[in-house]
This record gives sequence, C-alpha cells and structure tokens, in this order.
Amino acid sequence: MIFRARRGRGGKSPEAAMEWPLRTFSDDDEAAAEKAFFWPKWGFSGNCQGQAPIQGKFVLSILFTLSSLLQAADKIKVITSTTDLAWAAQEIGKDFVEVKPLLKGTENPHYVDTIPEFIRLVADAQVVCIIGLELEIGWMPKVLARSGNSQVQQGGKGYCETGKGVTVLEKPAGPVDRSMGDVHPMGNPHFWLSPKSFTEGAGQITEVLVRVDPTHSSEFQNNYKALAKKLEDLQKKNKARLAPLLAKLSGPPLVEYHKEFSYFFNAYGITSFGSIEEKPGVPPSAGRIAEISTSAKAAGVKLAIGGEYAPKNTLEKFSEISGIPSKQLPTSVQPDGKIKDYMALQEDLVDALVKALTKK
Ligand SMILES: [Zn+2]
Repeated sequence: MIFRARRGRGGKSPEAAMEWPLRTFSDDDEAAAEKAFFWPKWGFSGNCQGQAPIQGKFVLSILFTLSSLLQAADKIKVITSTTDLAWAAQEIGKDFVEVKPLLKGTENPHYVDTIPEFIRLVADAQVVCIIGLELEIGWMPKVLARSGNSQVQQGGKGYCETGKGVTVLEKPAGPVDRSMGDVHPMGNPHFWLSPKSFTEGAGQITEVLVRVDPTHSSEFQNNYKALAKKLEDLQKKNKARLAPLLAKLSGPPLVEYHKEFSYFFNAYGITSFGSIEEKPGVPPSAGRIAEISTSAKAAGVKLAIGGEYAPKNTLEKFSEISGIPSKQLPTSVQPDGKIKDYMALQEDLVDALVKALTKK
C-alpha cells in the first residue's frame, strides 16, 4: 500500500519510491506524514472524504516501522557531485553506503544551476565527494554553504575532494587571470576520463569512508583494491586495442573543443592537436575557429570531439572550414541513459576513436 500511495503522488516506480532519502516521522507527526505522502481518496477504507481513516492510521504505523527499519540499516549517505564519482563510491562502499549524484552526467559540470534539491540532499549527507580542482567552483560552494551541514564542509570529516589524490595535468606555470574566463586555473580537473587518474581520485573516497565509518575500514580498502585492479585491466585492454591504430599515424589524430579529454589521451598515449577553445571556458572567436580549422586540416587531424554539451554550431563551423568530421561524446556516466557505468563510458569513447581511426 505504501508503494501505491507514493506512486500515486509522483508517478514513481516502487523501486524509485524506495530511494533514499526516506523521511521518518514521530508518532505524533501524522500531519507532516500526510503532506509528505499522497493519501489516496480511493484508499484504505473506501470512503471518499479524504480523511485518514482508522485503517489508514494502521498503515501509517506500518510505514513508520518500515522507515525505522530502513534507517536502522544505517548506511552512510554519500552525495557526489558527478555520476562517475557516485559509481566509484558505490564500488568502494558497496552495501555500507547509499550513494546519490547531484548531476545526471549530461551537463557541463563547470556550469550548473543550483537547485534546492541539491541543498536538501547535501544537508542530509554524511559524506560529500566532489571532483575539485575548481571544476564545481561555480555552484558547489553555494550548495555546501546553504546546506548548513558542518560535517561535509571543506575540511570537515565527511568532505572529500578527489582531485587532491590526482597527478594533475596542465597546471599553469604562472598566475592565472580568472577574469579572462579561464576555468582551469588549478590545472585540468577532467581527470576521471583516465582510468589511472580516476583510481588516484577514488583513493580519496576510500579515505573519507574509512574516516566516517572506521569499523568497515578493511572492507573499504579491499573494495578499493578490487576497483583499482578493474580499472587497471580496463586501461590495459583499451590501450592494446588502440595501440596498433595509433602506431600507423604520423600526426595527432584528434582535436577537442574543450580540454576535457587530456587525461583520456594521456591514458592511451594519444597525441592531441589541442583545443578549439583558446582558453578553457572562453568561447572561441570566429578568427580562432578559422585559424585552428586550417591548421588542423594541414596536420591531418581525423576527428574533432567535444562533450555532449559543447556548442554544436562551433563544431559544425570547424568541420565546414576544415573538412574534418566532428562528434559529440559522453564525458560522464549517465545512469538514466545508455552509459550505465564507467566501463560503458570508456568503451563508448574508445569505440568512437577506433571508428575514426579505421575510417578510410
Ligand atoms: Zn573544463
């Protein structure tokens, strides 16, 4: 009955209705419970007055008991900014965690509108993991500050910045003028597209889980080791697949719109021609597009790639001038779409490259 009641309100499946966070209520909090859960008029006693009947009260008490039991399971509530981090946190925390990403995996993670739901989820979390290296600087600090949750603030017990564990690429040598719009002032934050760098970042998730729940430290560490092995094997397999194709090339095969594939290229020994953007986060001028199109054509570049949120018209303009095809690719796991996990994400990217490199 609980499932039917909740399904009636939000159109959600029973599974979705069971998703954390579940709200719990004290016995005298029936009014709040009625607000939170749809009370169907066609419900429990057959009367149509919309009143909570005696049978309804009985169902409510079952609901309270069920909520309490689920709470008793005592899983660590982990919120991650990105879907990739959620995947890693689930692999490391297994049955001891309940993980939810704020993003869907289709957004540009630099630019996200802060929605009240994010603040509510972070307020209720024991652990918050972000990519860091200023990837989420435009929105995550606001979410953290407004959550009022001291445990997950920067430096708190449940705060986890995965970028801290990573060997960072493209670290600027001198000072960066952010007023120019450069969104990579700490170096390139898109490390998760390299399995090796992603493993380094996931080490920070392990650390925070051990800190928050030391009783399961050996489980978390063993799960992390298994994850590291899985990602190492994945990188080896993909590298072996790409190596013979890359060996035939005389020049860089790819150009990217935004420098978000640098770690991916690094993982597989791919030389990049560079990015269509002159500065990360700054839309290229018409002159810049013309210049890089001409030089990429002269260098024999085979494909231009961008995230799914990269400006399509810029990529089209590049292709029009250079004659080089362009493709928008997923850059994160998309749990609601076809990229269900990190393995699928890597496969999708490698497939696109193999296709481009084998094209006559
Ligand atoms: Zn970026």
